[in-house]
This record gives sequence, C-alpha cells and structure tokens, in this order.
Amino acid sequence: MKNALIIIDYIYDFVADDGKLTCGKPAQEIDGFIAAQIEKTVKAGDFIVIASDSHEKNDVFSPEHKLFPPHCIAHTPGRELFGATGESIRNAPGDLLLHIDKTRYSAFAGTPLDLKLRERGTTNLYLAGVCSDICVLHTAVDAYNLGYKIHVYEKGVASFNAEGHKFALSHFKNTLGAEIV
Ligand code: ZN
Repeated sequence: MKNALIIIDYIYDFVADDGKLTCGKPAQEIDGFIAAQIEKTVKAGDFIVIASDSHEKNDVFSPEHKLFPPHCIAHTPGRELFGATGESIRNAPGDLLLHIDKTRYSAFAGTPLDLKLRERGTTNLYLAGVCSDICVLHTAVDAYNLGYKIHVYEKGVASFNAEGHKFALSHFKNTLGAEIV
C-alpha cells in the first residue's frame, strides 16, 4: 500500500486575497496544515503531486470560459503556490514531487496522473487543497472510478462556499467511501 499526497489548486489565484478566483480566508486558514502534511510526507518518503489549474489566455474553447472570469493563466503569478505550502514544496526533495498542470476540475482529466501513480504502485491518495466542492471533489470522483482508496484531510480542504464544503465532505465519506482524516 503506497501513499501519495495530492495538493489541488493551492495557488495564488485561488487562495490569496487578491487572487482572480479566490476562496479567500477559508483557503488561507488551511495553509499551515497542508505545509505540515507535506513535511510529514517528505519524512515518510512518499510521493507528492501538486496539481494546479492552468489556462491559456482567452481560450474560448475551455468549458470554464463562460463560467468563470479568467484565472490561473499560464506563466502568470496567479499560478504560483501559496504561502507556507509553497515554501514546503520548494524545500522538498525534487524526486518526491510531480507538478501537474490541469485544464479541468479533476487532476486526472487529460493528465498523466493515473499513470504516474500506477508506476509507483500507489493505492492510497490523501487529498488536500481547494475548492472542496469543485476541484477536490471532481478529483475524488475520478480517483473513486479508478479504484484508489481515498483519504481527505478535513483540515486540509476548503471552499468559498460553506454549504458546498459541507456537502463535499459528506459526499467524500458516504458516496465515495473516503476516509475523512
Ligand atoms: Zn480553471
């Protein structure tokens, strides 16, 4: 049973006060917790995936184009990892890390994530990041369909939408069979 920590969208545009599509305070409050999990994961020598949204400027073909204002545009500061979490990733040994650029909510959609996890014999995913009810949820649904055992850090996920956050936690547990840790 090999573990991987998946950090979803913990980047400036989703977390900082002046981020383009920010979750704001609830997202900032989980920074220390995620950073601590990164340090624990590094000590255990486990795999860490940093899956971050990436869009091209004025991409009218993106399904998000009509849903959200422009955010996480490639090669802009909006895509930089936020706070203590970013610091912990920069200090972590490179051979444990995989950075994935995603263009959909799920970290699995159109990315090599599943292959990279399987190459390492990973069976257990520990999810952290934002938003609980959007990108973390869609990643968890794909992980469920692919047969991974899912663990979600209750103190490591957040949303701008308190109701959505609550729904997501119950969906992880009761519908996807996830362990809430
Ligand atoms: Zn997006």
